[in-house]
Amino acid sequence: MALDGILLRCRVKLYEPGPVSKDLLLKVHTPGLIEGVKGDPLCSTAWHSAGGVVMAGEKIAGGEIANAFAFIGAGGHHSARDTFGGYCCFNDVALCIVNLREKHGFRRFAILDTDAHHGDGTREIFLTDPDVLHVCVCGQEYESPDGTKVDLGFPDPRECRGGRTMNDAYFDRVSRSFPDRVRRFRPDLLFWYFGFDTHQGDYGDIGLTGPCYWNIAVLMRNLAEEVCGGKLEVVLGGGSRTELATKLIPPVIGTLAGKDMWQTEFPGG
Ligand SMILES: [Zn+2]
Ligand SMILES: [Zn+2]
Repeated sequence: MALDGILLRCRVKLYEPGPVSKDLLLKVHTPGLIEGVKGDPLCSTAWHSAGGVVMAGEKIAGGEIANAFAFIGAGGHHSARDTFGGYCCFNDVALCIVNLREKHGFRRFAILDTDAHHGDGTREIFLTDPDVLHVCVCGQEYESPDGTKVDLGFPDPRECRGGRTMNDAYFDRVSRSFPDRVRRFRPDLLFWYFGFDTHQGDYGDIGLTGPCYWNIAVLMRNLAEEVCGGKLEVVLGGGSRTELATKLIPPVIGTLAGKDMWQTEFPGG
């Protein structure tokens, strides 16, 4: 129901995915992980969650849609080849990448992960893959020798004095760290792993609110238009509160659909 307005008013279409195939799962995960996911009640939505992320990538690559927002019920970025946890079951982004490489000849991918937590599963799967740029804003500082695996710390609260907010400092950090790397890297498609667990009051609270996410949405949409013909997939990550999802997500989708619409259609968020 939270999406009814955006589905009526914008160039937005809702797709319902089928389950991800076992063939594809076995190209990323071990049989043991798949059995473990089957037995975990927290993972009941894992097949359709990953199926949606994979399907969105295919529709973007085939030109049916320009970009996508993938809702998930079970997360992805803590899921590695043989281990899962932290509300993550199958690595949805990795499955999408493997599928796009095989079916569409895409090779290079850039991922911005703004979930509050380190994307350890995604990092492990692509650790030695120079064609995946993985920039993860998770509170630690790291850069691999080849520059394709990067972790960024959270802004220091001392950066937020004199009217400057945590939203400003966080957005500055993203906009100084990600776009130039992407321009040099020249990916075929961009992913934004969007967790809102960083929002005030959610379980990874670092003091962010709506405008920070919406500004990142605009940045990602414009960057994708600049470097890869607009091909952008936003994949939902962590976040637990229904009222936050209801408030935060429609403006992100609106931004994907058009020009900075959250500022005019969702004044004040
Ligand atoms: Zn998280
Ligand atoms: Zn990280």
